[in-house]
Amino acid sequence: MKINEYKEEIYKCSGCGLCQSVCPVYKILQTECAVSRGKFKLLNSIINQDIKFSKRTLEIMDLCLHCGACSEFCPSDIDAQKIIETAQADMLELGIFDFRKLFFAQVFGNKFYLTVIKFFVILVRNLKILEILSIFKFKRIELLKSFLKINIKPLKKFANVKKEIKVVYFAGCFNNYLNPSCSNAVFKVFDKTNVEIITSSFNCCGLPLKSAGDMETFVKIARTNIDSLPQVFDYLIFDCQSCKNTFLEYSKYLEGDYKIKALELKNKCKSIYEILDIINYEPRKKWKNSVVTCHYPCHTRFTEDKKIMRKIINKISNITFVEAKNADACCGAAGSFLCTHPVLSRKISKNKAKDIIASNAQIVLTSCPSCYLGLKQGLLEQNSNIKVLQLIEFLVL
Ligand code: SF4
Ligand code: SF4
Repeated sequence: MKINEYKEEIYKCSGCGLCQSVCPVYKILQTECAVSRGKFKLLNSIINQDIKFSKRTLEIMDLCLHCGACSEFCPSDIDAQKIIETAQADMLELGIFDFRKLFFAQVFGNKFYLTVIKFFVILVRNLKILEILSIFKFKRIELLKSFLKINIKPLKKFANVKKEIKVVYFAGCFNNYLNPSCSNAVFKVFDKTNVEIITSSFNCCGLPLKSAGDMETFVKIARTNIDSLPQVFDYLIFDCQSCKNTFLEYSKYLEGDYKIKALELKNKCKSIYEILDIINYEPRKKWKNSVVTCHYPCHTRFTEDKKIMRKIINKISNITFVEAKNADACCGAAGSFLCTHPVLSRKISKNKAKDIIASNAQIVLTSCPSCYLGLKQGLLEQNSNIKVLQLIEFLVL
């Protein structure tokens, strides 16, 4: 079992309980199983062979958003996410897994399934199926409707600007297969700049598989994504923080030549906002007296991206920026968590929405499609009509 390799790290937990104060799952469930300290106690017993992995230990490990808040505040500097993922991978090898989570992971890890979903979404959109189902007033339907409603059209004519920086754009599954609005915004924002965007046929970044513990498929996907990169480019850019962080982690899981390539790639991986900062982008759009706040996705933790997002927002004319309380607390979506733990996810999103509503903002911006769903889910639960947008969409809408 790979979890044995973390014996020393788990042992570093002093039991101080600081992780309790930041864990969104603990805030709702108020049980030791929810937080990393409790999970470590359990894993310690497994490593010492007092107990064995079981369906129940899986349920406990799955009570985690992988938000990283506990690691950020842990005085013993323990990487809880890596430990929890390793335990999940060990259990998958033993045949102990959550079918729903693995199902979502397999769907996202397979281009064929994603293409089928893409055509299904087009059908649902064109036949206005969600509008028809709206009569039942289900919040899940409202959530999907709001996500598909954001509709930034693709660029028809490209500006004639000299291009000096060549970037490869990793659009991610949400953009490629569910709603291309954010991708279209990326092309629009960079069109009049000196940045040339090139695309390639990538797979999913692999995060759903990594979270489900399916490391074998994750490694295969990481390799094909590296193989899909062109020979010459300046940066690999991402509109989703989660995809960027997953690429940054490839080197930890790959071996040989692929490890070397993944390590070389690290310096080239940038969020679209980092590139906008590099080129000193000046937003042209003027909004009318809007009060705006920002939700920083969990994957912006330990990065400069938060600061950069704020810097770009502060350059936009006519808006008032307000920082909401707990602006970097998890929104509750956490990829497949929204589907595998719907009740818990809704409660976490609802807590998040309370802080956004208290900020008196009219618009909340973010930089992750999954966070869009978490924020909207919480605001719908609170019957709030605060608008949710990706920052890149806000720049062109
Ligand atoms: S904050 Fe870190 S050291 Fe403290 S109880 Fe949580 S995991 Fe253990
Ligand atoms: S990663 Fe987030 S949800 Fe998971 S135990 Fe840590 S604080 Fe809680």
